[in-house]
Formats: sequence, C-alpha cells, structure tokens
Amino acid sequence: MSATILRNGTVLAYDEDSASIKVLRKASVVIEGDRIAAILDTDASKDNSYPQAEVIDVTGQIVSPGLVNTHCHMWQTAYRTLGPDVTLAQYFGWVSQRASNIQEWAPEDVYVSSLEGYIEGINAGVTSYLEHAHNNWTQAVMKIGLKAALDSGARIWWCYHPINRDNFPINEQYRTLKSLKSEFPKADDLVRMGLAIDGLDSMSEGDIQQAKQLARELEAEVLTAHYLGGPWPFAQQLPEVAAKHEVHDLHIPFVWSHAGFVSSKDMDLLRKHNDHISITPESEMHYGHGQDTSHLIHDQASLGIDTQWTFSGDILLQARMWLQSVRGRQSTEILKRGHIPKQTPMSVMDAFLLATRNGGRAIHRDDIGVLRVGAKADIVCFDGNSPNMLGWTDPVAAVVLHSNIADIKHVMIGGQFRKKDGKLVLNSGSWEEVSAQFTQTAQRVQQAFKNPPPLPEGIWGKYEFEDGPRTSASKEER
Ligand SMILES: [Zn+2]
Repeated sequence: MSATILRNGTVLAYDEDSASIKVLRKASVVIEGDRIAAILDTDASKDNSYPQAEVIDVTGQIVSPGLVNTHCHMWQTAYRTLGPDVTLAQYFGWVSQRASNIQEWAPEDVYVSSLEGYIEGINAGVTSYLEHAHNNWTQAVMKIGLKAALDSGARIWWCYHPINRDNFPINEQYRTLKSLKSEFPKADDLVRMGLAIDGLDSMSEGDIQQAKQLARELEAEVLTAHYLGGPWPFAQQLPEVAAKHEVHDLHIPFVWSHAGFVSSKDMDLLRKHNDHISITPESEMHYGHGQDTSHLIHDQASLGIDTQWTFSGDILLQARMWLQSVRGRQSTEILKRGHIPKQTPMSVMDAFLLATRNGGRAIHRDDIGVLRVGAKADIVCFDGNSPNMLGWTDPVAAVVLHSNIADIKHVMIGGQFRKKDGKLVLNSGSWEEVSAQFTQTAQRVQQAFKNPPPLPEGIWGKYEFEDGPRTSASKEER
C-alpha cells in the first residue's frame, strides 16, 4: 500500500486518556490508504520503513484533524449574499425548500450549488459534513443532491429530509431513497446514508413508526432534526418526544441542530442516549434563533454552519465566534449584577474540540475528528509562518484565534489530498468548470428569488413579533 508522510510538523494528536489534544512537536504523520498508520518522532520516521512514501515537508506547519460541520443545507449555496439581513420569519416563505417558486431550482442548479458549497468547506479545512438534505421538491433534485455529495470528495453523512408533496408524495420519496441505498454500499465509502426527521412533535405515531422503519431499511448511520425550543412554537422538547416514541430503539445517533434553548431535562436525555446537538453560532445570531443554554452541554455538542449562503462555511470561524459569544454573554451577565468576571467560562481547547473531536462523537465515530493511529486520514495543515500566525507557542490557540483560510496549505480527506500547497484538488471536474456553472446558477436563482414576499403575520401560529431597537447606524438607513 502506498504511503504518504507529512514530515516534521507540530501535530495536534488526540489523547484518549485525557480526552484532549496532545501536542507533538517535530512529529511526522504516516498515512496508508485512508487511515493514519503511524505518528512518529520525525527522527524515527527517517528509518526508511516507508521507502515508497510520498514525503511532504510540513516543517513550521500545524497538523490538525479535519474540521467537522454537523449541520448544513448545501443546495442553497448559490443564494450567496441574497439575504444579508434575512430573519428566520422571512426565510421560510422566501428561500427555503417550502418557497412557492422553489421549482425555479432545476436539478443542475442544485448540483453545482451543493458541490460548490462542499468545495468552500474543503478549502476552509472542513473534511466531514452532516448534510440535512431538504432538496426534496422533485425526484431529480433529490438524486442530484446526492450525486454532488458523491462527487465532492468530502466525507458526508447524507441525511435526506422527506416531506410530503403533491408532485412528489412521501411514499415515492421513501421508495426512491431505498433505491438509492445501493449508492452507499461499502464501509469505507466517504458518503454515508442518514435520515432527517423534522417535526417529530407534529407527526402522528404511524408516521413516526414509518420513519423509524425507513431508517432501519436504509441502515441510516445518523438521524438529524432541527430543534429550536424556547418561545418558538415549533420543535419543542424534541429529545423528550423522541424518547417517548422510543426512537433510541434504533440505536442510531441523533444530532439535534441549533438547540439554543435546550432544557435541563433534555440535557439529561441527550447524555442518557449519547445524542448530540449541533450549535450553529452564526446562524443562530444571524437569523435570530437565539442562544440561551447550549454552552451548558458542550459534552454533547458539536458545531455546524446551517445556511452557507448567508455567511461563510468556515467551521473554525464558527468555533471562534461561539467561544467569544459565550465569553461575552457570561461576562456581561456578571457585570450587570455589579460584579467583575473572575475566570473565562470557555477555553480555546474547548472550542477546538467542538470543531473536531466532538463532530466525530456526534456521529458515534471515534475515528473522525482526531489524529491518532487508526483514525481516518482527514487532516488539515496550517502554515504557522504567515504574518498572522508567526510567533505562536500554543498551536491550538494559534489555530483557533489566529488562523484564517489563507493559512490552510493542505487538506486531506480519507488519505486523498483535496487541497495541496494551497491549491484545491477537486475530485470531479475543474474549478474553472464548477465556478462558471455556479456563477450562472447564482445569477439565475438570485434573479428568480430577488423579491422577498411580505413578512408573514406570524410563523407557525405564533403572532407575537417584536421589533427591537436598531443600532444608531441603522437608523440612518431608514
Ligand atoms: Zn438548518
């Protein structure tokens, strides 16, 4: 088996005993096939055990596990910059899969939009995705969304979200999904089957049992659903609802996206069933989902992006944003009580693990989001000598607080370079082809969706909208 050696970097290895990062300086990572075969002192790696290996010198670089994005909807990427100030109440009737003119999205648009979204993530060091695929308005867009995942070269748990439609009834969606199972046959394939089951709290017992049966037949490796909680009238206490319907009999990990108002009872259930949440910090701030309690359950949390068209697909940026928002919220609360913050509530290491190891834990995979022997070779190398990184002694702090996408030299997924020496290595097609097609799609769909419908009077039966004060700069714009 041919090997690749990343020689002489600072390696952020995972230490199982302390469940934390062990920094190995002057170390080399040996990759055979799609897994890490060895992590050695650089001097030991010179013993010529791998005479045929491709050797990449990573002196001065920080070698990190690949980043994990546990919540995304990639088909929407071509809306990029269409809704810079969109709120959640505006989103559904305007640009979601439930928009009245959703048929404007042709299959080829869904394909290139999804593909470009994955590429954006790969360029930013994201190697694994949990895709909540609600491209569900025709059989053709459903299938081609999966093709984009397969063509991306990324590691993807593809969780289709069935919703009943007149033109594409749910039973037909179920049948199509089962026929697609042949696309996911082998244990080492990068794209794996999952299932999205939104709205458990409004589904009948029969529908839930049918969805459970589908998950069994698909051999789904993960289930996922949106979970808002708090004052939102929809998607309440979902871990409790899932437990009531014995969803855990399936023995499939469940990832709840957002969960900004997760209750203490639901936290107990998450821990009991080893389920995780996907905090999507920027989305929850941008759209106004709100965030109250997710920071209290980091032991069962990971990070996601949500809608990559409204902001960047960079998971490290999300980790930093979450870190600083948790710090900022807590210190403000303490100051408002007239006291002085004594210690920080969240460490940089915590942020790094949320973006890496915890993504693997959310899918119950101990070989994802870590650098250790036997783990999948999903690896990101940061240039530690850039103007914004130079001088670091703590490599985790350098990555979380100082790095940006321009520092990402190499990205490897399953032992294959998807970015090398700062240049993308696409699995399918060329960047020129993808970008030309994507630009056409972006222009066309943004034209078709450029006029948002009037704000609805309410959302899911809730009518208590409130218009809070705007910033002083925004007042000038009125
Ligand atoms: Zn979402």
